[in-house]
Amino acid sequence: MHFSADEDFALQLDAEDPLRDFREKFCLPLGKDGKPLIYFAGNSLGLMPKSARAIIEEELDNWATLGVDAHHATGTPWYTYHEALREPTARLVGAKPLEVICMNSLTVNLHLMMATFYRPTKSRFKILMEEPAFPSDTYAIKTQIAHHGLAPRDALVLARPSKGEFTIQTEEIVDLIEKHADQLAVVMFAGVNFFTGQLFDIKRITAAAQAGGIIVGFDLAHAVGNAPLKLHDWNVDFAVWCSYKYLNAGPGAVAGAFVHERHATNTKLPRFAGWFGNDPNTRFRLHLEPEFIPVASADGWQISNPPIFSMAPLRA
Ligand SMILES: *Cc1c(COP(=O)(O)O)cnc(C)c1O
Repeated sequence: MHFSADEDFALQLDAEDPLRDFREKFCLPLGKDGKPLIYFAGNSLGLMPKSARAIIEEELDNWATLGVDAHHATGTPWYTYHEALREPTARLVGAKPLEVICMNSLTVNLHLMMATFYRPTKSRFKILMEEPAFPSDTYAIKTQIAHHGLAPRDALVLARPSKGEFTIQTEEIVDLIEKHADQLAVVMFAGVNFFTGQLFDIKRITAAAQAGGIIVGFDLAHAVGNAPLKLHDWNVDFAVWCSYKYLNAGPGAVAGAFVHERHATNTKLPRFAGWFGNDPNTRFRLHLEPEFIPVASADGWQISNPPIFSMAPLRA
């Protein structure tokens, strides 16, 4: 292919694009001239799928006509609504179905994963993350450190592009991991950096960290639905993402989390629990069931019953 920066070439690529029909599946805001805008903001808020309205209305109708019975009585029972999302979500991030769960929002999920996986000790207490990182991730990581009575200036290691560069070489990340290997508890990186668009080598970063006995987590906000992912095969320990960017699930949509099978099935791992992380068979015994029995899958990190109206457009 001969690249050319003119309009004819762009139009030709559009014509050859095998995904071009997908444009028809979305609502495009109109510009002042009444024509659909060329929308380059899907990294911030993906456009509305035309099918979203009907899928939300279906649940409003279920609420109107069935009330509480909609938890069990519909084609998409609310009690197990997240099950409808399991297979497609697993496919998007390259996971086994038991390794993914759609719940909460992104930063909340990051905190929940850190509650399980950031267990600092006297000798191993540092976290490595990239700079610049999305502010919410920085706030989350710094307050996680403070929550354990440590100071970010001692415990936070930042991987920055070298002077005059916009991106970080994988070698530089691996060197930093090796330099701090004995003291690092967690390596927490983006899949795609929100600011530079750099796609990180998740496989190599994971391998380098795990060689040093370090837990590795990824924030896939800008990677999910955008780049091919193989979280299970890459052996990533945990990951989190939001669904309103490249997954087009609407503002504040229900987010996702990945917990690798070897952790997901370990019901002994500490976590912040609620009734929806409990074994469904004993979850709803209204007579005192004081022992928390986690589901032996990523579902074991669920806390509350799912917000159906924010989950419905994720199906769309
Ligand atoms: C978009 C984005 C967020 C937003 O966090 P929410 O909890 O969904 O509000 C956080 N981190 C990264 C890296 C993002 O790209």
